[in-house]
Amino acid sequence: MSDAIATTLIAWFRQHGRDLPWRHTRDPYRILVSELMLQQTQVERVIPKYHAFLALFPDVYALAAAPTSAVITAWQGLGYNRRAIYLQRTAQAVVAQYNGEFPRDVAALRALPGIGDYTSGAIACFAFEHDVAFLDTNIRRVVLRVWSDPHGDIPDEKALRSLASMQVPAGQGWWWNQAIMELGAVTCTANKPKCPSCPLRGFCNDYAARLAADQALAPLPTRPARRVTERKDAPFVGSNRYIRGRIIDHLRQTPTGIDQPALASHLATLGLTIDEAKLTTIIAGLARDGLIHLDGTIIQLPA
Ligand code: SF4
Repeated sequence: MSDAIATTLIAWFRQHGRDLPWRHTRDPYRILVSELMLQQTQVERVIPKYHAFLALFPDVYALAAAPTSAVITAWQGLGYNRRAIYLQRTAQAVVAQYNGEFPRDVAALRALPGIGDYTSGAIACFAFEHDVAFLDTNIRRVVLRVWSDPHGDIPDEKALRSLASMQVPAGQGWWWNQAIMELGAVTCTANKPKCPSCPLRGFCNDYAARLAADQALAPLPTRPARRVTERKDAPFVGSNRYIRGRIIDHLRQTPTGIDQPALASHLATLGLTIDEAKLTTIIAGLARDGLIHLDGTIIQLPA
């Protein structure tokens, strides 16, 4: 790790970083809620939902004890409803296994249901200020552009994580990870990185390679843009994910539940004509994911 890079990036973040509510807390529960919401949803949409969710479920005990239907309902507007299920299962595990106190190290956090490599690292860092590295889409992109060889092969996930780990400055993990994440979100963006105003342009391999090739500020290097996969927020209309979302939306409005023919009729009013076998499969998938409960022929949100 270069002290100059860390100093430069953290100074930039202190001056330009957005004032986001989860940057004011070290409560692991609140960090977990924010991280799961942010995984597939834009910051602007998350902020009001974050406050509303915490008003309903202010701590890990409240979330663990809540009816799952209430958690799914509170998730409305965020999409990817399975995150609500994972979040509650994590809360229940923290209460059952740790008396409501989140474990502090990455390995124990990683063992909780619904928590992967990224989220375990983010909680260890943002709640407990551990100097750990983790990769989300934004951090991955910055690491790839700044430190990898622009003329070489794309590093695999393990190599990228190792590269990211080497950059975390001792004792400043919280600031570093917030800063690099912010840089990827607002400056080193996927399609139009703002290299002229980037604090790391003097350190960035990718930028240097483009300058050397006399392509500075010209079209993007194709390598990261092509290879760094970014998920689109909105599902394709008619896709299984879209249909699943519409089913959950309808069940939020129908607490007593609905049978499959009535559900098919409702979906048809939305322009979604789905054959019976396909709808049965989608319903089975939702039940498997814990998002719905099947009571005989009645489909409803889980209690
Ligand atoms: S100089 Fe450009 S490519 Fe390099 S980190 Fe900054 S914004 Fe990203």
